[in-house]
Amino acid sequence: MENYTSFDLTEWGEPFEEALHEMPQVTGREVLVRITASGLCHSDLHIKKGFMDLGEKGKLTFTERGATLPLTLGHEMAGDVVAAGPDATVTVGQSVVVFPWIGCRNCTPCAEDRESDCTSMRILGIHRNGGFATHVVVEDEKFLIDIDGLNPAKVAPYACSGLTVYNALSKVGSLRDGQWLAILGAGGLGLNAVAIAKALGYRHIIAIDIDDTKLQAAQKIGASQVLNASADDAVEQLKILTDNQLFGVVDTFGSEQTGALAVAAMTKAGTYVVVGQHGGDFKMPQIWLPQKAMTVRGSHVGNSPQLATLIQMYRDGKLQDIPIETRSLSAVNEAIDDLQAGRVTGRIVFVPDTPDAG
Ligand SMILES: [Zn+2]
Ligand SMILES: [Zn+2]
Repeated sequence: MENYTSFDLTEWGEPFEEALHEMPQVTGREVLVRITASGLCHSDLHIKKGFMDLGEKGKLTFTERGATLPLTLGHEMAGDVVAAGPDATVTVGQSVVVFPWIGCRNCTPCAEDRESDCTSMRILGIHRNGGFATHVVVEDEKFLIDIDGLNPAKVAPYACSGLTVYNALSKVGSLRDGQWLAILGAGGLGLNAVAIAKALGYRHIIAIDIDDTKLQAAQKIGASQVLNASADDAVEQLKILTDNQLFGVVDTFGSEQTGALAVAAMTKAGTYVVVGQHGGDFKMPQIWLPQKAMTVRGSHVGNSPQLATLIQMYRDGKLQDIPIETRSLSAVNEAIDDLQAGRVTGRIVFVPDTPDAG
C-alpha cells in the first residue's frame, strides 16, 4: 500500500511530527492532489498554539472551532492532480491551486458561492487535513483552480493571504482621486494587499508596520508612502502623510493598537476593515461611529469566485510578486519559529523535499 507523508500537529503548542498515512482512495467528485507548494500563514501559528486571544473574553480555542488532533495544517496549497473520483471531470496531471475555505454547501451563503460567510465551514488545514503534506484530498473539484503554466510557489499564497485581502479591499470599495488607503501590517497579507490594491487601481497607498525591512518591501511592491508605527506620534504622522484623506484601512494585523491607530487617523465617512487576528480588544469612543460616520467591519478569508479572479489577474500580469522564500517541508518547525520571531519578509512556501516524490 502506497503511503503519503505529512507533518502533523499532535498536541497543541508542540512541534509538528512527521507521519505516514495510507494513500486515500478518492470517490465521487473528490480529487487527490500532490502538493507542489504550500504557504505558511500567520494563522498557522495561532492554530498550532491552539487558541486565539479574545481579550477580556478570554480565549477561543480551536477545539471549540471544531478542530481535532492529529491535524495536518496548511491552507495555501498548489499541486498536481494525481487521482480523481469517478464523478470528477478534472484531468490527472493538471496543475491547480486549492480553495481551502470550503463551507457546509447547504446554506444560503454557500449556495451563492460566498463560502466565507458560512457559519459551518470545513476548512482544509483546520477542520480537514491540509497542506503540510505530500498529498491532500479535496472533497470536490469545484474547489480547484487551474494554474497550468504558473509557478505554484508564487500562486499558492493567493489561496489565503491574497484572497483575504482581496475580499477586504472589496469591502473598502473604490476611492476617489486624492483619497488614501492604508494597509496596516506589511507581512504576507499586507504585501499582497499593497500589490492587489495597486492592481485594482488604488493610487494612494500607505503601508504601516513597525519593521523598516518590511516597509521597504512594501514600497518596492508599490506603496506610495510608508510609516513606522512605533513612533509616539504615529496618528499625527498618518494624518499628515495622507493629507487628512484617509478613507480606507485594511488591517492585516488586527490588534488593539492597530485598531486605535486606524479609527483615530481616518477622516469622516472612512471604512476600517479588519482581517488580521492578532487579537485583544477593539476599543473606540462610541460617539465616533456617528460623528465620524465611520464604517468598522470585519472580513473573513474569501470566496471561490474571488480566488479564480485573482489567479486570472496574476495570469494577466497585473499582480506584482511578493517576496517568496521556498523551504523544504521537513524544515516546517524551524520555519514556524522564524515566522513567530518576525524574521520573515514576505511568504515562506514549502516545497517537497524531493521534487519527484510520491
Ligand atoms: Zn492563512
Ligand atoms: Zn454554508
